Amino acid sequence: MMSQIIDGKKISQEIKDELREKVSELKEQGTEIALAVIQVGEDPASSVYVRNKKRACEYIGIRSVSYEIPETTTQEELLAIIDDCNNDPEINGILVQLPLPEHIDEDTVIKAIAPEKDVDGFHPQSVGAMTIGEPGFLPCTPAGIIQLLKRSDIDIEGKECVIVGRSNIVGKPMALLLLRENGTVTICHSRTKDLREVTKRADILVVAIGKPKFIDASYIKEGAVVIDVGIHRNQENKLCGDVDYESVAPHTSAITPVPGGVGPMTIAMLMNNCVESAGK
Ligand code: NDP
Repeated sequence: MMSQIIDGKKISQEIKDELREKVSELKEQGTEIALAVIQVGEDPASSVYVRNKKRACEYIGIRSVSYEIPETTTQEELLAIIDDCNNDPEINGILVQLPLPEHIDEDTVIKAIAPEKDVDGFHPQSVGAMTIGEPGFLPCTPAGIIQLLKRSDIDIEGKECVIVGRSNIVGKPMALLLLRENGTVTICHSRTKDLREVTKRADILVVAIGKPKFIDASYIKEGAVVIDVGIHRNQENKLCGDVDYESVAPHTSAITPVPGGVGPMTIAMLMNNCVESAGK
């Protein structure tokens, strides 16, 4: 079977170009958008993400206000910065790069962000709004996957959608968004009894396990659409996903590669949320 490779790089570029257009229109009407980007410490992976997010802001025409603060920052100091950003009318969105150092409680920090500036969509109010279908910020990775499917003309309605992984940032919100698109949704996790039996039912399989090349062809129904959220770096510094691409791809009708699949969509959707934040 000829499998379609879902090009996340191309689709994310389309979205960024649409947003760039929108931002320039907003500027003509006198509206500027600013995103506060807060990084605590110097974790190298976080630094790469933060750099890419700032670069995307620059491309789209969003001003990024950078807070690079030391590893030793106390929770109170971080909360004070968030409070300043919450109260600053010139800041539209607030992004705190995770993970945070161990002495800082992530949940407390996430809850401190004003929901109308919560461009990551992690605040309980954003999660609640998504759950009951009210307007609010959607978490970027699952929202990006919905865009990948829609812009690749893959129908979700009535399809068997299986998600492997139930994290708060990927698996759970993914289930809600696929449900909203009228998919029939099943969530699997580490206690699922016969994982293969479930994944083999999937017309659309989303994999967010965090284990390199875990899913091989034996988990796939012939002709399924496979979305690979995982990101891992092997010893040769090459990226791979949670799906064993070489083994799985020939059995799919469409599949996302790693890199160049889901990854670029996350930043595109963050930018989308920043543009939406201008109206709030
Ligand atoms: P988590 O580690 O938070 O969650 C992993 C989930 O997989 C858990 O729900 C766990 O189940 C489940 N799981 C683990 N082992 C198995 C197994 N053997 N069988 C079935 N289920 C299993 O990961 P995240 O959701 O945060 O991330 C997943 C992957 O996606 C990572 O590789 C991460 O780097 C990547 N990622 C990529 C992003 C992108 O932009 N492309 C964004 C976010 C993440 P249980 O709950 O029972 O423990």
